[in-house]
Amino acid sequence: MKKKYYIETFGCQMNVHDSEKMAGIMKADGMSETLNPEDADILIFNTCSIREKAEQKFFSSLGRLRHLKKSNPALKIAVTGCIAQQEGAKILKRTPYVDYVIGPQNIHVLKDLDSIQIHSVACNDNPLIAATDYPVDRKDGIKAWVTIMYGCDNYCSYCVVPYTRGREISRPREKIIEEVEKLAQDGFKEITFLGQNVNSYKSDLDFPGLLNKANGIPGIERIRFVTSHPKDLSKELICSIRDLEKVCEHIHLPLQSGSSRILRLMNRKYSYEEYLDKILGLRDAVPGISITTDIIAGFPGESAEDHEATVNAIKEISFDGMFAFKYSHRPGTYASGFEDHLGDKIKSDRLYEIIDIQNQITENRNRSLYGSTQQILIESFVEAREGRQYQGRTRTNKIVNCTQSTPPAVAFIIGDLADVNITNTARHSLAGIIK
Ligand code: SF4
Repeated sequence: MKKKYYIETFGCQMNVHDSEKMAGIMKADGMSETLNPEDADILIFNTCSIREKAEQKFFSSLGRLRHLKKSNPALKIAVTGCIAQQEGAKILKRTPYVDYVIGPQNIHVLKDLDSIQIHSVACNDNPLIAATDYPVDRKDGIKAWVTIMYGCDNYCSYCVVPYTRGREISRPREKIIEEVEKLAQDGFKEITFLGQNVNSYKSDLDFPGLLNKANGIPGIERIRFVTSHPKDLSKELICSIRDLEKVCEHIHLPLQSGSSRILRLMNRKYSYEEYLDKILGLRDAVPGISITTDIIAGFPGESAEDHEATVNAIKEISFDGMFAFKYSHRPGTYASGFEDHLGDKIKSDRLYEIIDIQNQITENRNRSLYGSTQQILIESFVEAREGRQYQGRTRTNKIVNCTQSTPPAVAFIIGDLADVNITNTARHSLAGIIK
């Protein structure tokens, strides 16, 4: 009988995609997936350590499923991802029922777990990672993540990623292009290039060069990328977004703070003025581009004036969307050694103020799309009494719920592109009728 794996994933898209790779590795080794941990021969916790909360969530999930080892002593438990890399053998001490600790650069060991000693740690640097083609078990049939680089060299003072995912290393472009061509043959319509800092991609091509190559692949309709660092947003990249028809008009560009003083303490390597200049350049070249961002509320030493600068920046730039979080103390990072950490109440108050302001801005920006025509890529549909209801995303990455005009000229299916007349708008989505 085939052995079964169960994967629980925490954190960012990078981890979600790593879980697809782990599933691919184990499937290629003859295992099958189960969604029920009680049926599994191995439980994998793919962890995130970007914030304290994500770490707590993992340890509570691990504790919740620990009893399964009592009823099935042959069950194996593996901890992978950023906490595995950061904590290493300490995890085996703290939770001795864990069998394997595997860092993000060592997921290949899942291929042959039976040959590895239990209670072992695989967290070494793996220089071959960028040249390795991992099998990937993708759940979605039309949208695919494609890793173009691993690690990060930026050392933002609050961030654990350079310590958990290692130094920046780009995949050879021919491997990336081969993967995208194969995805196109398999019917995928949209790809998202993935990396901690995609716009510093470097092989024999730079990032705009890679986008240009991917743009020429027949069958792929849309190209996205995440995440970009503002300091590496070049004029050439702005031109690529403007000129390459498959590159979507959306960029996620983490600002983190509107105060240049705090940006310096964060080691972000740009000032607010430089960031704003790039936003103006983007909007000038690509009118209607959607810009989303990340903000950290309550960084150590953030004064009322610094917070005010962030509020003003959010109003001035008018982002389409934002992920905002309270500053989270991460052991081992440079900022964890700062002395002037703020209390939880002030961090929460600032966070809620920022979120309230952005919610209103998002709603207004979506409202401005009322009456416009937006192209969507259909991702799902349900049959309802009133007819088929579709859901998709605009090129600017906004969710649209829509119906077909009656009687429908063509029945659309998942993966089709459709033009939608926007007849209603809300904070989190748009609604309309397919033309
Ligand atoms: S760019 Fe900064 S925040 Fe992003 S992964 Fe690298 S160190 Fe972390």
